[in-house]
Amino acid sequence: MIAAETFAEYARANVPRYTSYPTAPHFKPDFCEATYRRWLGALEPKQPISLYLHIPFCRQMCWYCGCNMKLAKRREPVADYVANLLLEIDLIADAMPARMKVGGLHFGGGTPTVLAPGQFDAIMAGLRKRFIFAAEMEAAIECDPRTLDEKVVKSIGAHGFTRVSFGVQEFDAAVQAAINRIQPPEMVERAVNQFRGAGVANVNFDLIYGLPYQTVATIKRTIMHCIAMRPNRIALFGYAHVPWFAKNQRKIPENSLPSTKERAAMAAEAARLLVAAGYTAIGIDHFALADDSLTVAAKTEKLRRNFQGYTTDPAETLIGLGATSIGRTPFGYVQNIGETGAWSRAIQSGRLPVARGHETTRDDRLRARVIEQIMCFGKADLEKTGRALGYPPNWYADAVPALRSLVADGVLTCVSGKLSITADGSALTRIVASAFDRYLETENAKHSVAV
Ligand code: SF4
Repeated sequence: MIAAETFAEYARANVPRYTSYPTAPHFKPDFCEATYRRWLGALEPKQPISLYLHIPFCRQMCWYCGCNMKLAKRREPVADYVANLLLEIDLIADAMPARMKVGGLHFGGGTPTVLAPGQFDAIMAGLRKRFIFAAEMEAAIECDPRTLDEKVVKSIGAHGFTRVSFGVQEFDAAVQAAINRIQPPEMVERAVNQFRGAGVANVNFDLIYGLPYQTVATIKRTIMHCIAMRPNRIALFGYAHVPWFAKNQRKIPENSLPSTKERAAMAAEAARLLVAAGYTAIGIDHFALADDSLTVAAKTEKLRRNFQGYTTDPAETLIGLGATSIGRTPFGYVQNIGETGAWSRAIQSGRLPVARGHETTRDDRLRARVIEQIMCFGKADLEKTGRALGYPPNWYADAVPALRSLVADGVLTCVSGKLSITADGSALTRIVASAFDRYLETENAKHSVAV
């Protein structure tokens, strides 16, 4: 049992979500394009890769948003962006040793469904020309139910997409007004049915707890609406209030935000209702139906973590395309330029539009593996993992003081190098992972709170 005050203290700590290690704020700004070209050229031609395409446009701004997005007030900037994305696809493919096989494709944003059907078709044709789509390819797209065009839905279905993700967040009308995102349950249900009708069988909902004016009662009602629509997966994220970074969040009054205790109660109640409705809890914030591939991957310990969260994608290489996209190769991480003007100019001059990157060291790879195990399974065999990479049993000596405190506080157990987070400590998984983070600088890092 963790003492309430101790839990609250941990929960207030700012720690990363560990979608990579090191995390993006630690990528180096002096990273050069030539290094990325060398990495791309050295990829194993027979190993499938994954692609992430960032479409940064939205029709309306949500006040809670922390993404890299632009308001799509006119058609021209979207058309220009698509033209440059097609050029970037060619630049990346030219740098690779072969026409690579793609096992995973993800369109994120922003709102990818702001694209007109013709633009979407052009991007898919550009990808098919330069890459080989695997027969079993998982293709996912994020969608905004408020601005959905039936023709776009049909086009997504016709291109063989297997999964659609909706930003549902919360159904309470007062909360929706406070976050500037009005979408009643009927609107979401209609969109879900449209996609299912178009052959996109798998549905994901993103929900948020910790929003302005949100309570345990509102999130309960939201969960009941969601359960009725039976999405295959639900991601339940804590709202990250970072107004120093996301200026739009200044429209959310601080005094409308729930306390740490209320946030924890909302997360716990939502999880309880979802598990009672037949969903399996996965990692720190996902829930999936028993037959979903994420549940199977969690049970067979094949679950992975990447920049989109939890995934079944085994690819070691994820190529990010579009402004601000982050990619991963066996050699390190790369992030594209975030500002669309500078991103476009780099592409038009024939340069890969990289802004930052990080060449991973042997120590990074070991810590990344341990952190991924903790984030996916709530446990890690520290000595075995170290041994597999040629490290002595005491490789994690620097983490021992933090681990001892976490053991004393009831967050985890650690016997003979086998770390396991307790049931009470599961909400503090990110804190446990951070014990192995050599780059974490709590005084400078602007990460969200742990719970
Ligand atoms: S739709 Fe998504 S990306 Fe666009 S403003 Fe809202 S939260 Fe941000």
